[in-house]
Amino acid sequence: LRDCIARGIQGHRELVNYRKNGTTYWVELSVVPVRDDRGVLTHWIAIERDISDRKAQEKEIERLAMEDHLTGLLNRRAAEARLEVEWSRARREKSPFAVALVDADRFKLVNDQYGHHVGDQVLIHLARTLESNLRGGDWIARWGGEEFLMCLHGLDARGAVNAGERARKFVKSNPVPIAVGSLPITVSIGIVLYSSQVDSIEQLLAEADALLYEAKHTGRD
Ligand code: GH3
Ligand code: MG
Ligand code: MG
Repeated sequence: LRDCIARGIQGHRELVNYRKNGTTYWVELSVVPVRDDRGVLTHWIAIERDISDRKAQEKEIERLAMEDHLTGLLNRRAAEARLEVEWSRARREKSPFAVALVDADRFKLVNDQYGHHVGDQVLIHLARTLESNLRGGDWIARWGGEEFLMCLHGLDARGAVNAGERARKFVKSNPVPIAVGSLPITVSIGIVLYSSQVDSIEQLLAEADALLYEAKHTGRD
């Protein structure tokens, strides 16, 4: 806006303003030059409109777009965006991370035997269980139907295997409380470590997926 004013042209900006008590609010601010008959700039008109409500709505929409409705976890889209960030950070700072794909075993049977509603309950429980097992800075997302993605930091290969094992055991030792009792659940996990030899996030994910597939075909759990 200062630039517009210096050049004598109109300008519009959305910006954060401060109330006298120090709290902030969003405004849409327009400045328009007023010239006399000979074209000499004589006045400025400034219009300031409080757009806090709209900004709050936009933020809420953005939050909803990034959140999985059922579990409240990050959704796949949010996870993909975060993985990009993880990827560039790992390249830049040589701080590797591990990606774990966690898939509920025989989950279709849960739906078939107890109904979709219980299936949903199981997914929520699984989300909470996996989430509570994470260390600070690590994160989890719902990657697909009954599949979760975890991103873990500060691990070498052995550490990554241990983290996967810890998650697997933790899920197994936390059956889901349902109306008719307690429902045991297990997961299979494919876990890969970032390395500078890996070309892309897609490749990393494909490797995790292949390992998950292997875990499924060598007994699950
Ligand atoms: P596997 O051990 O090989 O992974 O077997 P699975 O039965 O877990 O895998 P499969 O891919 O055959 O079935 C996954 C099921 O998950 C099928 C689908 O209906 C169910 N599912 C996906 N999303 C949801 C959901 O949001 N709620 C419920 N209740 N079920 C879901
Ligand atoms: Mg499954
Ligand atoms: Mg699956």
